[in-house]
Amino acid sequence: MSATHEKAAAASKQTAAPITKKQTQRIVLSGRLQEPFSPEFLNSLRPRLADYLAARGVELRKQGNRLVGRCPAHDDRSPSFAVFGSRQETCGCFPCDFTGDVFAVSEWLGRSASFPEAVRDVASALGIPLPNSPAETATRPRTAPPRPPKPPEPPFTLSIAERETVHTARLAFSDAFWGEEKIVDDIAASLGLDRETLRVAAWGSSGLGLACPRNSSKPWLCYAYPEGLKWRNPHPGRKPRFQWIVGKATTPWRWEWAREKETVYVTEGESDCLALIAAGMETETAACVATPGTSLRREWASLFTGKRVVLCFDSDQAGRAATATVAAILKGHAREILTWRAGQ
Ligand SMILES: [Zn+2]
Repeated sequence: MSATHEKAAAASKQTAAPITKKQTQRIVLSGRLQEPFSPEFLNSLRPRLADYLAARGVELRKQGNRLVGRCPAHDDRSPSFAVFGSRQETCGCFPCDFTGDVFAVSEWLGRSASFPEAVRDVASALGIPLPNSPAETATRPRTAPPRPPKPPEPPFTLSIAERETVHTARLAFSDAFWGEEKIVDDIAASLGLDRETLRVAAWGSSGLGLACPRNSSKPWLCYAYPEGLKWRNPHPGRKPRFQWIVGKATTPWRWEWAREKETVYVTEGESDCLALIAAGMETETAACVATPGTSLRREWASLFTGKRVVLCFDSDQAGRAATATVAAILKGHAREILTWRAGQ
């Protein structure tokens, strides 16, 4: 590089590099070519052109509808530089053949080398925090709508085949019951219940069904839930064992009976619920429902809003622990929470 060129380069750094028309067009268009910042944010900066120029040492005075001043990029005796436009968002210098907005002038003045840099330079000169910076989020009112909340998980649903399995099991129970089949009497005997209790309990989308799990050819009792089927191992004399054939419990067992009732008796497990029905606890204003063996799910608490809930769990240590757990879950939802003790 010759001495003359070095001198010229130094001079151009002090003022600004000479800009060709082609470069000017590229600069002016750069904002539209790449916009990592929101249009709202960019539009909020564009009317601040005069403030930006003032911050960068360009003195302007009002002349008609324009602001005029000496061009910062060439040796300007007469003011050739102007800010104009209806919102004074454009500036230019005729001898320099430059026209552009606040971001273009930042690049033209050598304050930035790209559009994002120009946005940062303009924001910095005006003392405006950039979007997404903590200060921006804290102080600047949001112009963009808040991000929509994460969509809730889709509700659990059975496949058509699984739904068919639940339907078939309930239909099988109904057929056996009205067909006076021995199997219903066997079930009633094994549970120590009468046919009327089974008839009441079988009603609804969660009730009783008959299914043949595993390799058994004999259908046996299962508990139907709206989205599941739970088989009860019938071995007499042994503690019953349970197995989900399809789906899972999406509500307490027999929940649809409690929906409109004022009082809800909640048992741990479906067998105890059957015993309460047999005892005549289900009335015009009261329904019996069951947790599916484990504790009441937290997401079910709102089902009990405003209801009088009677917790009918075992009186052993596990039952007392379950009572405390469920009472804590229902607190703030149920109108009243009572505890049923054996012998009451
Ligand atoms: Zn100029």
